[in-house]
Amino acid sequence: MRQLPAIETLLESTFLSSAIARYSRPLVTEAARHTLAALRHDIRRNQPIPTLSMDFIAQMIIQHLSEEWAGFAQPVINATGIILHTNLGRAPLSDPALKALNAIGGRYLSLESNLSEGTRGVRTLELRRLLSVACHAEDALAVNNNAAAMLLVLIALAGGKEALISRGELVQIGNGFRIPEILEQSGVILREVGTTNQTSARDYEKCISERTGLIVKVHQSNFVQKGFVSSPSIEELAAIAGKGQLPLVYDMGNGALLDTAHFGLEHEPTVMESLRAGADVVCFSGDKLLGGPQAGIIAGKREFIRLMLNHPLLRVIRLDKLSAIALATTIKSYLDKNAALELPLWQMIRLKKEEIRSRASTIAQQLKTQNIAATIQDGVSLVGGGTLPEQELPTTLICLSPPRAVDKIARRLRLSSPPLVARVEKDAVLIDLRTVFPDQDALLPGIIAAAWAQKD
Ligand SMILES: *Cc1c(COP(=O)(O)O)cnc(C)c1O
Repeated sequence: MRQLPAIETLLESTFLSSAIARYSRPLVTEAARHTLAALRHDIRRNQPIPTLSMDFIAQMIIQHLSEEWAGFAQPVINATGIILHTNLGRAPLSDPALKALNAIGGRYLSLESNLSEGTRGVRTLELRRLLSVACHAEDALAVNNNAAAMLLVLIALAGGKEALISRGELVQIGNGFRIPEILEQSGVILREVGTTNQTSARDYEKCISERTGLIVKVHQSNFVQKGFVSSPSIEELAAIAGKGQLPLVYDMGNGALLDTAHFGLEHEPTVMESLRAGADVVCFSGDKLLGGPQAGIIAGKREFIRLMLNHPLLRVIRLDKLSAIALATTIKSYLDKNAALELPLWQMIRLKKEEIRSRASTIAQQLKTQNIAATIQDGVSLVGGGTLPEQELPTTLICLSPPRAVDKIARRLRLSSPPLVARVEKDAVLIDLRTVFPDQDALLPGIIAAAWAQKD
């Protein structure tokens, strides 16, 4: 016990100086306390301990820190081939969006000032104009995320009355976002229509009364119903809503502004065609098929958007200034018809399996020089993020058979610097370069070789 160094001595040693620079002194102190306590525990139980050198203990502390803080906001190499990876931040931002953040984020900006009049301006006016033009909508606004958008739409438009929704659309999106629970939180009374697999226009009509506040349609973003399934189109619902003078709200989730069919995927309803088909208000995420920052976008008829702009809840869920800058720049890529070239989402969707194959072969060659056997095989990538659940993009995979348990190796890769997140299938680690930025390719052989060499 007496051989154990004091915490202060450890913290002053050069072994921990870079850890302190990275994690801050209080966090390293906490990790040092934890490690020393664990060592004391082992000593008391006469567990064998290889050495009590400062160097060895510092390595234990650094190991503990890297495990405790592995998840905290560091760039990760996504080799899963899942483009909108929910655990990895969904859509990466475009270069123009990053440039705009760099130019404006650290300075004052004309967020709420009318520069031509020298007065206080409306915070979101320009962004609203950009969104309206891009969506072909009378007006639009952006809030914190699509869940918040849904809440605002329901509270502002249904006003405590009933919302009609098909039983086939009472869905759960990701972890914990359930449409019926959002409806409940909004104070709107849920009125279920039809059945899980069959809901007709007539089913909606039968349920309309003076208590009805609106009709909601929710896109089945993350699952597919097959077989004996039908539900009315937006056009049919718009006709019913029109007759009852009710707003028709469509929670699209994805909010594509480009036609996914042009990229070899199934057609996903676009924002423009949903509005044209008669939805009064649509809402969707900023970081799904739009390929921008986290945001919830609401677009549609001016009279309804105005109700939301005047609602006190808007202040609670408003978009922050950095996301607003990134969203405006992302939308501008669409207006300039550069979205498919500039946004990482569409760049990755557009990648051909042959291009991926040639990059994969280069990496496999480099691995061979380090005596790591890698094979190349066909596979599929996914769009992910709860979008286009059954759509597979043909890709080329690097297939690695690790010397030890595949889970251990996958963990080693995740704890590398930078972390590498790969796919694990049976006894193999699979690397899909579709979601790896080409400038990260050169890092892969080194990270893999280090994980292969590590003994644990
Ligand atoms: C993803 C999704 C949401 C939630 O959007 P967030 O931006 O993650 O809050 C809501 N509705 C549908 C249909 C979705 O697909």
